[in-house]
Amino acid sequence: MSLPLVVQKFGGSSLADADRIRRVARRIARERAAGNDLVVIVSAMGDTTDELLGLAAAITDDPDARELDVLLATGEHQSATLVSMALHALGVAAISLTGPQAGITTDGRYGRARIAGIEPRRVRAELEAGKVVIVAGFQGQSASAVGDSEITTLGRGGSDTTAVALAASLQATRCQIFTDVRGIYTADPRLVTRARQLPVISYEEMLELAHQGAQVMQVRAVELGWVNSVVIEVLSSFEDAPGTLIKEDPFVEQRNKVRGLAHDRNVAKVTVVAVPDRPGVARAIFDPLAEAGINVDMIVQNVGHGGETDLSFTVPRVELASAKKTLDPLVRELGARELTTDASVAKVSIVGAGLHNAPGYAARMFGTLADKAVNIEMISTSEVRITCMIAEADLEIALRALHDAFELERPEPIDAAVSAAG
Ligand code: ADP
Ligand code: ASP
Ligand code: MG
Repeated sequence: MSLPLVVQKFGGSSLADADRIRRVARRIARERAAGNDLVVIVSAMGDTTDELLGLAAAITDDPDARELDVLLATGEHQSATLVSMALHALGVAAISLTGPQAGITTDGRYGRARIAGIEPRRVRAELEAGKVVIVAGFQGQSASAVGDSEITTLGRGGSDTTAVALAASLQATRCQIFTDVRGIYTADPRLVTRARQLPVISYEEMLELAHQGAQVMQVRAVELGWVNSVVIEVLSSFEDAPGTLIKEDPFVEQRNKVRGLAHDRNVAKVTVVAVPDRPGVARAIFDPLAEAGINVDMIVQNVGHGGETDLSFTVPRVELASAKKTLDPLVRELGARELTTDASVAKVSIVGAGLHNAPGYAARMFGTLADKAVNIEMISTSEVRITCMIAEADLEIALRALHDAFELERPEPIDAAVSAAG
């Protein structure tokens, strides 16, 4: 008879050195002793991925995308083998597998591949042989890239996605994401000390927080969890404390309309100044950016004056150089005056499923920022969020003020009612 299957993922900070790897191994051994089958997904140790990116950047300004993915995947290979060895040292049978060995196939987009399918035959066989299976996160294999099998990576934070995808595919009874904080908070607890841990958050709200920069879960992992109804538990790898459940939330109507704040520093503002105000200009600017694979987010076109207008938008800060390279020749072609950029901006968002039918929340957000003399440079909204772009230097003041203004520190009565009943 097969045992209940638990999927656990350990992030980079949980595996930063040999001591921490041994600690993680002890935790895995405990779970194993409790009588569960275990598939463990690991990220690269500590800042390994950043260090590998730094090495590549020291070699060339424009590293080949294929080589970069093979390089980055090695970070996760290291930690997977070391966790496996640490388990052996504890007398626990274990084997490490790369993403491709675990049967994860992806599309061919190096650096941001999407999982196309999972055939976890080998994983199942090793489980049946009584082993804990350690899978290198963040990677897979694409058959389509050049007609032959190629290593791909899933984008920053991609081990979260490996974990949720494997949990769905193996129909795990639990999917646990161990990290360096106790769970999901009302704001990044490193910037807002008064942030409150949430016992539960809906997929929709977590997805929006992740989209708006809360790096604690990768966007794609939340999407996969939602589509496959995988309840995701986020919890600390350093202490035994209750975590946060990401799941369908039946009480969403009874909750605070604003559930949390997110912020994003990986953003830059681009303005095409005094571009002729005529049809086709937006297409001439945004088509080439799309072709270059650059994500454009907030867009503001000012009211035209004398046949000219300013067009501003944001791009990820890491893509600013390539956005400039794409746009510089166009500015001349279109007859615009100049291209200006500002990389010292940040986005701050209020997020909550109840926002769309709650008038007054935008005004409260803008008023709170005004009271702190924080200038709003751009605004965008969706059904479940309001986002303002501000100077990066104002970010922490803005987050703390918004956290107070929306009373996010205060526990929600519905949670007390649910835990009393449950
Ligand atoms: P890991 O290495 O485990 O994958 P990450 O660094 O990717 O960890 O994600 C954890 C970090 O996410 C936390 O240390 C915290 O600073 C940040 N974070 C941002 N927003 C939130 C939030 N709302 N709740 C919890 N953590 C958050
Ligand atoms: N090591 C990869 C990163 O740093 C993947 C992950 O940690 O999830 O982005
Ligand atoms: Mg992460």
